[in-house]
Amino acid sequence: MHNALLEGKAIGANTVQFFTANQRTWHTKPLSDEAVLLWEKARDETGIEVVMSHDSYLINLGSPDKEILAKSRKAFRLELERCLLLGVTYLNFHPGAYTTGTLEEGLDTIIESLLEIAPLANTGKTRLLLETTAGQGSCMGSKFEEIAYLIQKTHKILPIGVCIDTCHIFAAGYDIRTKEGFNKTIEEFDEKIGLSNLYAFHVNDSLKPLGSRADRHASLGKGLIGLPCFEALMQHEKLSHMPKYLETPDHTIWSEEIALLSKFREVISK
Ligand SMILES: [Zn+2]
Repeated sequence: MHNALLEGKAIGANTVQFFTANQRTWHTKPLSDEAVLLWEKARDETGIEVVMSHDSYLINLGSPDKEILAKSRKAFRLELERCLLLGVTYLNFHPGAYTTGTLEEGLDTIIESLLEIAPLANTGKTRLLLETTAGQGSCMGSKFEEIAYLIQKTHKILPIGVCIDTCHIFAAGYDIRTKEGFNKTIEEFDEKIGLSNLYAFHVNDSLKPLGSRADRHASLGKGLIGLPCFEALMQHEKLSHMPKYLETPDHTIWSEEIALLSKFREVISK
């Protein structure tokens, strides 16, 4: 884990997203004291304070299947415990999928899952962030209305918020290809969810078209969203302080992508 901080620093990042465990298995080992010490040392060395953890892809907090739901809640609790131990700023998670159930039942199951973990979440400084999704299959959270419902029912009870993934909202049907389109989408977010509930961005271009509901990330400017969106994001005065995470597929050009985003930012700071 501590390597995420060191590698981030080396490519010019001032924040990193990482996994606290293997994201594709249910079995996780508790963090060793050594891993925690190395983490704290790297954090001091790099000065990177704001960090995001991404939960396991297997976790489904909205599942109608009792067994999967129980496993998911347990894994999510362990993930949050690791985040609290490491002092992670944001725990990013996908809301969940309703599979054989209904959307309404799925959303209410997610709320139940979150309320159950509230006592633990209130013991530390880690904020849980619902990630907007592309809406693949029965995945919830692709419409701002769905996220708004989850936030309304939980935000007074535990530290929670939202992370917008640009690829996902585009695939979900929000047209952010132009500066106007991006700014209008942020306004819509503000009306429906409230910008005070927005904490971070996943900055990705999309291989799949608008409204395709398919989650396939592309490098910035090499997908169907295009650079104007990312320029608008970096220059939006209400979003400038929020951490932004690349999840683009070609890690060999991450340093260039960071430099590009920083260049967009310079225009307003001049
Ligand atoms: Zn994402």
